[in-house]
Amino acid sequence: MLFQPPLPPFYNGLTEAQISERISKGKAKLGSRLIILGHHYQQNEVIQFADFVGDSLKLSQVGADQQEAEFIVFCGVHFMAESADILSDDRVKVILPDLSAGCSMADMANLDQLEEAWDFLDLECHDNVIPITYVNSAASIKAFCGAHQGACCTSSNARAVLDWAFDQGEKVLFLPDQHLGRNTAFAMGIPLDEMIVYDPKLPNGGLTKSQVNDAKVLLWKGHCSVHALFTTAQCDEIRRIDPAYNILVHPECSWEVVQQADLSGSTEFIIQTVRQSPAGSQWAIGTEIHLVDRLVHDHPDKTIRSLAGIQCLCTTMYRIDLKHLAWAIDNLIEGNIVNQIVVAPDTKRLAVIALERMLANLSPNPVAIA
Ligand code: SF4
Repeated sequence: MLFQPPLPPFYNGLTEAQISERISKGKAKLGSRLIILGHHYQQNEVIQFADFVGDSLKLSQVGADQQEAEFIVFCGVHFMAESADILSDDRVKVILPDLSAGCSMADMANLDQLEEAWDFLDLECHDNVIPITYVNSAASIKAFCGAHQGACCTSSNARAVLDWAFDQGEKVLFLPDQHLGRNTAFAMGIPLDEMIVYDPKLPNGGLTKSQVNDAKVLLWKGHCSVHALFTTAQCDEIRRIDPAYNILVHPECSWEVVQQADLSGSTEFIIQTVRQSPAGSQWAIGTEIHLVDRLVHDHPDKTIRSLAGIQCLCTTMYRIDLKHLAWAIDNLIEGNIVNQIVVAPDTKRLAVIALERMLANLSPNPVAIA
């Protein structure tokens, strides 16, 4: 995780109304030179200032499409700002208002670990292994996949990318989210006993040569700390409370939870499923709480609640607050660029290859994983 120095004390003395006014004025002053991107999991206080709201893929595409803006202030997490920097024009500067807004899942795979895994797989495996990384990963991991005939995927198109990968090779190394990998491969008809978990903390990933040889999918031992909070016991409890609830979960949830759910799919799939459902329908949703709360607000004709009885919050994204947003914009007005996210040119060149393979496998509509 990167270190975010404390903000100047001035910002701590401002009320929320004063900070909001400051941001509004700053936005107006910068005009079309600035766009603010807000991820679905972001808090409402920040989202109210976003020019575009979406998942990480949609926001990166918006960044890439910018013709006028000089600055993208990305109210998401670090890997999203990196993707925006990779995909946007070189003249555009991408800013993350709080450098400590990382992603615990992305932090579960680093380049040294991946190179070590690759050395082991090259030695142990005679088949062609295709590395596929979820976009929730560092730029260096994306670049590695780009350089090794692999690709990125999103939760919207993981299945299409895995189909593509099995056209290229015999096995897939899927990282960093074991759950998205397992849920997607299972939905494609690959049995669980043909999937094994590679643990980067253990020598050789904790695997033997014969385990690797027998497997079709190697799942990196990583997960999302938010979606890991959803459990099968919560599914049981919802069914007990009222069987009319439809359980709708993100595929970063465990395989067991996805199997118990009625539907599973990406953030955009969740939003569209609820939007298209009839008035009076009931939804228990297994994803980040800010998105669930927004769905509750936007669909008063439906009964919507979190699958969990506890607050499943992306605490790293939550670090981006009004004060940090105001500070980043104030600096732009003064001609200073703070917290710029810059991906090194060599990394960018290879990561683009992996991202473009992902974009080539996009479906126009979000699809269910299971
Ligand atoms: S919700 Fe999970 S995967 Fe998404 S940014 Fe937060 S920690 Fe990372």
